[in-house]
Amino acid sequence: MKQYDNSSWALDTLLVHSSKLSRPTNNSGTPTVQPIYTSTTYLHSNADVLDQAFSGSLPSGEQTCVYGRQGNPNAQALEEVMSRAEGGTGAVVFGSGMAAIHASLLAAGLAPGTKILAAQDLYGTTIGMLRSAFVPMGVDVVLYDLCSSNASEIIRAEQPDVVFVETLSNPLAKVIDLDAISTAARELGAISIVDSTFTTPYLLRPIEHGFDLVVHSATKYLGGHGDTTAGVVISARNSLVEQLRHYATILGAMLSPFDSYLITRGLKTLALRMERHCNNALQVAHFLQEHPAVERVHYPGLLNHPQHELAARLLRQQRYGGLLAFELREQTREAAYRFMDNLQLCLPATTLGDVYSEASYPPISSHRNLTASERQKFGITDGCIRLSVGIENTEDIIHDLDQALTS
Ligand SMILES: *Cc1c(COP(=O)(O)O)cnc(C)c1O
Repeated sequence: MKQYDNSSWALDTLLVHSSKLSRPTNNSGTPTVQPIYTSTTYLHSNADVLDQAFSGSLPSGEQTCVYGRQGNPNAQALEEVMSRAEGGTGAVVFGSGMAAIHASLLAAGLAPGTKILAAQDLYGTTIGMLRSAFVPMGVDVVLYDLCSSNASEIIRAEQPDVVFVETLSNPLAKVIDLDAISTAARELGAISIVDSTFTTPYLLRPIEHGFDLVVHSATKYLGGHGDTTAGVVISARNSLVEQLRHYATILGAMLSPFDSYLITRGLKTLALRMERHCNNALQVAHFLQEHPAVERVHYPGLLNHPQHELAARLLRQQRYGGLLAFELREQTREAAYRFMDNLQLCLPATTLGDVYSEASYPPISSHRNLTASERQKFGITDGCIRLSVGIENTEDIIHDLDQALTS
C-alpha cells in the first residue's frame, strides 16, 4: 500500500475519500469501496507474526486483525477517518454511543474514590449511566450548570479527576465555553471529555479547543440515515487510545463490520448534509420566531440567543447546527401532544441527526426520568418541543410545522 500525501485535504474531501485513504498501487481491479469483512478470525504467515499481530500491529507497523472482538478492517477504516477528521492521534469505534461514553470514562481513569464533574444537562442516559454504574462503584459524581460564565471557578473549586460536557445542550441548545473548561481541567490534571454528537467535526473540533477525548453517538449525524447504532471516541493522546482499545476489547463493545461500513458510507456525505441541516434549521428558527403559536425559540444561530457570540466563535462555517427547541405559547402537555400528532412530514420520533426532520417532546422522551420541577429548573417547559431539522425542502418543513401549529 502506498500512502498518498493526502494530509492537506480539507474535511469534506477527506470524508468523501474516507474508505480509500491508502490505495494499493500494484494490483488492478481493486474495488473503490472497501469490502465488508465478516471474518471472525484472521490468518498470519507464521506463528511469530501471529504473536506480533496479537499485540496490535505487524513488524512493518501496519495495522492488522486477529480476532473479531479486537477489531476488523471496516472498523479500522472508520477509526482512521474519524481520527483525522477530529485531529486526534487515534480513534476507537463502539457498538453504540453509550458504549463509547462508558469506555471513555473508564479510559479517563474513573475508579473508586475518583470524582467526575459533569454538566447537569447532559444526555439523559449519560446521567443515568453515571448514577447507576459509576456511583455504586464509589465514584463521586457532581453535576453543575457548566454553560454558565463561572464554569472555570466551579471546576477549580470541585477539583475533579474527570470533566464531562456536551458541545450543545439538549434540548435547549445552550453553548459551552470549551476553551475555558479545558484550560481549567488541564490546570488540575483532570481529563476532559466532550460529547460532540450535536456538532460533528463539520462544526467543531474539540481537540483544537484543548479537549483530551471527543465522543460521538455515530447513530446520529455521522451515520445520518437512521439505519445503524454506533459510537466513536477520538483521543488527543496515544496513551488514551490504548486504554480505549483495551476497554473496547475486554467489554466486547466493538462495532461490527457492517455497521462500520454504514457509518463510513454516511460520513461521505456528512459535510453536504450538515450544510443543509444548518441552513434549514436557521430558516425554520426564523419562521418559528415569527409564528403566533410560538412563545420562544432556542437556536444558537439566532442573534437574540444569549450565547450567540460564543457560538459564532466556536462553531465553524458560520453555521449553528441542525437542532433547535421551541416553546408553544400554550404551555401544556395537551398542546404539545396536539402539535406532535398533527405533524405529517416531520416524524414524531425520539432520535436526531437523520436526513428526515424529527420532533420530540422531552418530558416523554429524553427527559422523562426527571421530575416536573427538575425540568422546570433546567428551563424545559411543558410546551417545549425539540426539532431535529432534516434535509428536506425547506418550504415543505415549514409548511408542515405551520399546519401542525395552526390546526
Ligand atoms: C443519542 C446520544 C447518545 C447515546 O448514543 P446511542 O448511540 O443511542 O447509544 C449520547 N449522547 C448524545 C448527545 C446523544 O444524542
